[in-house]
Amino acid sequence: MHAAELIDTDLARRFRRAQFLMSTPQHTKLPDDVGREIAFAGRSNAGKSSAINAITDQTGLARTSKTPGRTQQLVVFGLGESERLIDLPGYGYARVPLAVKRDWHTLIDLYVSERKSLAGIVVVSDIRHALTDFDRQMLAYCQSRDLRCVILLSKADKLNRGPAMETQRKVLAEIDELGVPTEAVMFSAPNKTGVAEARRALALLLDQ
Ligand code: GDP
Repeated sequence: MHAAELIDTDLARRFRRAQFLMSTPQHTKLPDDVGREIAFAGRSNAGKSSAINAITDQTGLARTSKTPGRTQQLVVFGLGESERLIDLPGYGYARVPLAVKRDWHTLIDLYVSERKSLAGIVVVSDIRHALTDFDRQMLAYCQSRDLRCVILLSKADKLNRGPAMETQRKVLAEIDELGVPTEAVMFSAPNKTGVAEARRALALLLDQ
């Protein structure tokens, strides 16, 4: 086995430990604000739950295909004692009333601005639509707090390699201009493309 594979095996083990801890509609009810955590954001249907499941190698950890936007919950997964993954509520489902969208902004504003243990944000973006205004808004949140960001270009299996690489190039050029420290990882949950790379990027956020 090569050194890189050994590291990947360790990382797979690290993320496989993820366990559901709790969910809450209020950032003040989250576990104690100590240690490190990474938040996952994405428009509804972007593939956020599938990405969390692929990274943690668990089929049912983040429920896929839930009724979109029904509950605005922060879902907490523990990674051992002092590290967490936070599944932020999906955003932008058309049927959600304006008031719910406002609540979403308030919740995310408060969470991102006040949460000391937040080490970085993963933005899951469908490669066929990246970047969306939503993604740009999340990048702005990262900028506002000097946080690192990882963009997972999800559903990469839906595009041929040429167009997928072209999108990745464009996304990298845009984030470079914004000046946010960001990676853009080509990702496919069913094919497991980018899973090892995503784990490495997340581990860097947790360990920095
Ligand atoms: P969420 O609303 O962002 O949590 O999105 P989900 O993870 O529930 O995914 C929405 C839909 O897209 C589901 O039907 C998934 O099976 C599908 N999906 C998610 N990720 C991928 C992917 O990488 N490739 C393909 N082909 N489908 C995906």
